[in-house]
Amino acid sequence: MTIAARKIRLIMQLRRAGIADTAVLSAIERIPREAFVPESFQDQSYEDMTLPIGRGQTLSAPSVVALMTQALGTDRRTKVLEIGTGTGYQAAILSRLCRRLYTVERHRELLGEAERRFLKLRLYNITTRVGDGARGWPEQAPFTRIIVTAAAETVPATLVEQLAPGGVMVVPVGRQGGDQALLRLTREADGIREEILDSVRFVPLVAGLPSDAA
Ligand code: SAH
Repeated sequence: MTIAARKIRLIMQLRRAGIADTAVLSAIERIPREAFVPESFQDQSYEDMTLPIGRGQTLSAPSVVALMTQALGTDRRTKVLEIGTGTGYQAAILSRLCRRLYTVERHRELLGEAERRFLKLRLYNITTRVGDGARGWPEQAPFTRIIVTAAAETVPATLVEQLAPGGVMVVPVGRQGGDQALLRLTREADGIREEILDSVRFVPLVAGLPSDAA
């Protein structure tokens, strides 16, 4: 099957799974997922699967990326913070759907590879940084949208603080080794509204930087 045919099959699967936002679907159609997938998994680029990306990390399945992107609800005015750049695939999708994307990754090597992909694909509205994403990006706060692509044990209070009024955060919350709840938090005038979107499995949000990051 050609890449184009695999892509169409994936888009149909996503539609059946309830992804109705045409902007999200068209971003998934336009961003080449194969450019973010390791050599040995190229054939699986358009399968709805989680894939290993090295350093014990994973690239989420397209259905999870689509669901989180749709739930975030971005448009050309939004300023988005992503925690956990990984391959940069989720960032690339979002960059087509927002004004500017800020993304933080604790592994310098992963971030370097992601940055090369952004340049190659001419995604110029992405700003990157190596760091502990649990701290957010105070110099750039507040954000209208925040997406966390690693599982936090509890709702990260520091990130909630960096959410603008009316802002939305999508974050998987729960312990490792089991299912986590994918939450959508909305900052409303009288507090934070919380919705459970799905049950997911993400690698953990880890505090601090790895020893190889120096
Ligand atoms: N969004 C990525 C996949 C994320 S996998 C993609 O589209 O490919 C989770 C990522 O979060 C990993 O790369 C991991 O290194 C990173 N991560 C985990 N804890 C972190 C932290 N505290 N700060 C920044 N990045 C973190």
